[in-house]
Amino acid sequence: MELIIPAPTTPTLPIAGTDARFPVRRVYCIGRNYAAHAIEMGHDPDREPPFFFQKNPDNLDPSGTFPYPVKSNDVHHEVELAVALKQGGTNIPVEEALEHVFGYAVALDMTRRDLQAVAKKAGRPWDTAKAFESSAPIGPLVSADEIGHMDEGTIELLVNGEQRQIGNLNQMIWKTAEMISYLSEYFTLAAGDVILTGTPSGVAAVQKGDTLEAKIADLEPLFVQVT
Ligand code: MN
Repeated sequence: MELIIPAPTTPTLPIAGTDARFPVRRVYCIGRNYAAHAIEMGHDPDREPPFFFQKNPDNLDPSGTFPYPVKSNDVHHEVELAVALKQGGTNIPVEEALEHVFGYAVALDMTRRDLQAVAKKAGRPWDTAKAFESSAPIGPLVSADEIGHMDEGTIELLVNGEQRQIGNLNQMIWKTAEMISYLSEYFTLAAGDVILTGTPSGVAAVQKGDTLEAKIADLEPLFVQVT
């Protein structure tokens, strides 16, 4: 087959302990999945149905640097557990959902909070706030075979060595299996899909020159330099 332009490359993520890489198909992100963060953003923490937005596969950035984006003066960190799928489907039952997980990684859902506030007020989509270049720094994936399924453990973010965000994975309003099941009712999930599972409270602005250290349970910490 002749392609009229060069084919875009498939973004891939590193996997701890191997040279093999994980190819990314789609990126789904859940909003307000920790009660304390819902409250800090001015929302009711009750278990209303989950809602999702998407980032682009090539927004995932394992480089360890975060170039401060254009068009914003208020870019926030959100530390999140990333879940990578090795198989997909539709209408996946909750009790079978974790069988679809390849593994887990530490990630950041970087957010242009000023643009998000404008979009929220106008009832518009969040894409410019969420789905920009390098907006999802991510560490190496660790397979579930190795680390098990991660339903509890400390999730923490430090900026220049000072703690900004702290929570526990067991505080997620919607658990990983429930998110996979719910998403699979609305989309056809597939191998290569990545889900960012929400952030605990303490989100705040980053500045050029900051060093971010994101830590989740036994996963290797993710260091990101804001440039
Ligand atoms: Mn988020």
